Amino acid sequence: MIGVIIGARPALFNAMAAYTFRMHNRARPLIEEFAATFDRRPEIVSIAPGRVNLIGEHTDYNEGLVLPLAIDRYVLVAAAVRQDGVIRARSVDFDQRDEFPAAAVRRFRGSRGWRDYVRGVVWAFLNRFLPVTGADVLVTGDIPIGAGLSSSAALEVAVAGALNRISGAGLAGADLALLCQKAENVFVGVQCGIMDQMVSALGVAGHCLMIDCRDLTHRPVLLPAGFEIIVAESGVERNLADTPYNDRREECAQAARGLGVDSVRDVDETALAEARSDLPDHLFRRARHVVTENRRVRECVVALEDGDVTTAGGLMCGSHQSLRDDFEVSTPELDLLVELACVVDGVAGARLTGAGFGGCTVNLVREGDTAVLEEKVIQPYIARTGLPSVMHVLHASGGLEVTDV
Ligand code: ADP
Ligand code: MG
Repeated sequence: MIGVIIGARPALFNAMAAYTFRMHNRARPLIEEFAATFDRRPEIVSIAPGRVNLIGEHTDYNEGLVLPLAIDRYVLVAAAVRQDGVIRARSVDFDQRDEFPAAAVRRFRGSRGWRDYVRGVVWAFLNRFLPVTGADVLVTGDIPIGAGLSSSAALEVAVAGALNRISGAGLAGADLALLCQKAENVFVGVQCGIMDQMVSALGVAGHCLMIDCRDLTHRPVLLPAGFEIIVAESGVERNLADTPYNDRREECAQAARGLGVDSVRDVDETALAEARSDLPDHLFRRARHVVTENRRVRECVVALEDGDVTTAGGLMCGSHQSLRDDFEVSTPELDLLVELACVVDGVAGARLTGAGFGGCTVNLVREGDTAVLEEKVIQPYIARTGLPSVMHVLHASGGLEVTDV
C-alpha cells in the first residue's frame, strides 16, 4: 500500500507558498521560449526537482530505507497538445531538437542523451498502455548534469508530469515515479533504483523524505532549522561508474542468496554476524553496509525529529565510513572532501552522496558558516588535488508541480 503521513500544518503551508513562488518565478521565461520555438503558447508547465540523498546510500535497490530531499534546482518542461500524433521536442540547454511519432517511439539513432530520456518516458507510457498524445515539448533546467544531483530523474519526472496532464493518463505519485524508473532502467539502460524518481515526484518543501523502497511508503521528515544542505562536487566525473555500480548490485544479490533471504534488507545485524563465516569477506562487508545503513537511516529520522543535529551529523559520518570501508565505493577525493569538512566547526556531518566513484559529498552545515566551508574545504581541496570543486547551497523543495498556463 502506498501511503503518506503529512507533516505539521505550518510546514504544509510553507510548502504551498514555496510552490507558488517557484512557478511564478520560472514559468514566464519558459512560456516565452516555448512561443519562440513553436510559434504558439504552451498549455501546461511541469517542474520537477533534482535531489540529494542525506543518508541511506546503496540501500534503494536492496529494498531498504533512504532519506533524500528534493532540491531547489529543477528541470522545467512546457508542453501543448498536437493533433497529428507527433512529438516535437527541443532542449534549450543542448540547443537540439527531436521529432518522432508518439505511438511508435524508438531509441534515438546517434549519441545517447536528453532525447532518450524524453523518448523513454513516452515508451514507458505506451508500455503501460496509457494514452500519449502528440505534443510540442520544451525542456530546460538548472540542475548540474552528472554531478550526482539526479538531473536525469528530474527530466523524466518533468516530462512524465507534462505528458500525464496533457494526455489525461491519470498517473499520480509513486506510480508516476515507477514509470519514470522503468524508462531509465529499460529504455535508457541505466539500472537506477527508485529513490530519485520518488523524491522528485513527491518531495516536500523544508523536509527530507524517508522512503521505504520495498513498499514505497514514504513520509516527510522536517529538516533542522538553522542548518543548510551543501553539496560539494569532487570534480571527478562518474563516467566509469556504471560497471562498479552494477557489480555492487550483483554482489548484494549474491550476499542475499548466501544468506538465504530475498533481499539483504531481511537480515538484522545479529543474524548477519552469525552468518559471517558462510559468506566471502567482501560479500559480508557489502551486506553489513546495507544492514547498518538501514539502521542509520532509522536513527537519523529519530534524531532529526528530536532536533538532535549532532547525532544526525554523526550518522552521516558513519555512513561515509561504511561506504568507504565496507561497500568500497568512495574515492581518495571524496574521502578528502569529507575529512576536511568533518573538522570544521559548524559542519554537523558530511558524507559521499550518490553512487560514489566520484560525484559529490553532502554536508549539513550551520547557517552562516557556508563561507567557512568554502575557505576550509573547497579551497584546500582544489589546492591539493588541482580538481575543479564547487559547492552548491541547496534548499529542500517540493516535488513535481504541473500547472495549466
Ligand atoms: P545525473 O547524475 O545528473 O542524473 P545522468 O548522467 O544520470 O546524471 O543524467 C544526465 C543526463 O540527463 C544528461 O546527459 C541529459 O541527457 C539529461 N539532462 C539533464 N538535465 C537536462 C536538461 N536541463 N536538459 C536536457 N537534458 C538534461
Ligand atoms: Mg541520473
